[in-house]
Amino acid sequence: MDYRVVSIVRDNARDRGTAPAVTGDGRTVSYAELHERSSRVAQALLAAGLGPGSRVAYLGKNAPEYFDLLFGAAKIGAVTAPVNWRLTPAEIAAIVTDAGAPVTVVDAEFAELAPGLPGKTILTGEDHESWLAAHPAEDPGHIGEPGDIVVQLYTSGTTGLPKGVQLSNANFEVGERMARRWRLDASAVSLVPMPLFHIGGTGWALAGLYAGCRQVLVRDIDPAALVDAFERERITNAFIVPAVLQFMCDVPGAAERDYSALRAITYGASPITSEVLRRALDTFKAPLFQLYGMTETTGAIVQLEPEDHDPGGPRAHLMRSAGRPYDWVEVRIVEPGGDAERPVGEVGEVLTRSSQNTPGYWNRPEETGRLLAGDGWLRTGDAGYVDAEGYLFLTDRIKDMIVTGAENVYPIEVEEVLAAHPGIADVAVIGVPDERWGETVKAVVVPAPGAALTADEVIEYVRERLAGFKRPRSVDFVDALPRNPSGKILKKDLRAPYWEGMGRTIG
Ligand code: ATP
Ligand code: MG
Repeated sequence: MDYRVVSIVRDNARDRGTAPAVTGDGRTVSYAELHERSSRVAQALLAAGLGPGSRVAYLGKNAPEYFDLLFGAAKIGAVTAPVNWRLTPAEIAAIVTDAGAPVTVVDAEFAELAPGLPGKTILTGEDHESWLAAHPAEDPGHIGEPGDIVVQLYTSGTTGLPKGVQLSNANFEVGERMARRWRLDASAVSLVPMPLFHIGGTGWALAGLYAGCRQVLVRDIDPAALVDAFERERITNAFIVPAVLQFMCDVPGAAERDYSALRAITYGASPITSEVLRRALDTFKAPLFQLYGMTETTGAIVQLEPEDHDPGGPRAHLMRSAGRPYDWVEVRIVEPGGDAERPVGEVGEVLTRSSQNTPGYWNRPEETGRLLAGDGWLRTGDAGYVDAEGYLFLTDRIKDMIVTGAENVYPIEVEEVLAAHPGIADVAVIGVPDERWGETVKAVVVPAPGAALTADEVIEYVRERLAGFKRPRSVDFVDALPRNPSGKILKKDLRAPYWEGMGRTIG
């Protein structure tokens, strides 16, 4: 298959036209239908005066209409920008304006947001069907260059405002190879629970479409419904973020369900504790793949294989690793913000180079300048080290690192220890200001139901297991941790009240 994103729909329509491509909102669209529907969208966009480089926006939950739009836009060389519907109406309008999209497809569930958007809006469902019916099903035949942008995905906004990441045909060139690494082929049934406005949604769905299989779209993430879907749809592959995987393991009776169709569960996008991994292995009894990557690298660049998920084996420590870079990806560890190479085993900033690196953020030259380090290298902003065998161990985001006295504390290490405490359901570790030490370690703890836990017990638990400077000096008890839709803990929100007026950028 030609690797250009638009070829997914043309080549699969030719090779397996009647095969199902996407299931969502109670209907299934075949590859031939997707080809026809996206050609109608392409004609509608041409009629509206759009062309190569134009932006179109999608504001909605995971639904088949998204793929009509994405491939329709690609058929005229236009770029699809899916927008996070969880943002405020003002933020959503700002992103659609920033993208400069004259057309937005809006989920009928969010119809009340449509009047606030610039340009023309089409509601999913009936409105969308009439839009298609009004235009001929003729493929305009645009192929495009490797460097042409196809999608513009916004980052998760974990550390600041979401940034529009431009991803090109060349960035997706490894899509087919990646699909094979994840055991996706034409006979797979792939679950797409993560939002399509993130790389964990769109990137995963595109891999399944490269493979020519059926994508089962999930509109709302409900752990019990996901467990049901695994059984009912005979799901073979899924991409699930750690927080959701954990909730699925908590569903009563989850371990007794029928997962015989399952080939592998792929997880990633945020740190995972060994505790959750052990539970996922016990519950699903299926091979696990971990992925590490970011929107800016078109998703995964590093992968941990199933054989490295062996809690009882001699190499159990690898479960704390994110895995090894793909053959076509280079990873280097340097002094944070600088260029001096760090030796094997020493923590520094993770840099990466491959065809997957974005050409840059949309309309943000300064941030693009900070991201792209020159000579093809990209600064991930993540801290980590590589061992002698080439396994990458992520220690944290550089922005989340706590500097207490002269020591660096990586919150993940402390969180990993606390997560194993039976009285703790969820935990985040942050740095808070301290006159003497600059920062000290604070644990924000969600107690397990019925657990009577004191701050002293929490501190003592860490003191017995880690170096003294890593133990929390204070503990907050809360009912829940703030998370974004990717399941990432919003540490900037946890830190904010402590740093207010301290003149430290919280971002
Ligand atoms: P923003 O850039 O807007 O702050 P974000 O970085 O969370 O948001 P994404 O591009 O969705 O947005 O996420 C990429 C980040 O997710 C990585 O830089 C890394 O910090 C984290 N991440 C991804 N995979 C893993 C993994 N396997 N283990 C730990 N962290 C991971
Ligand atoms: Mg980021």
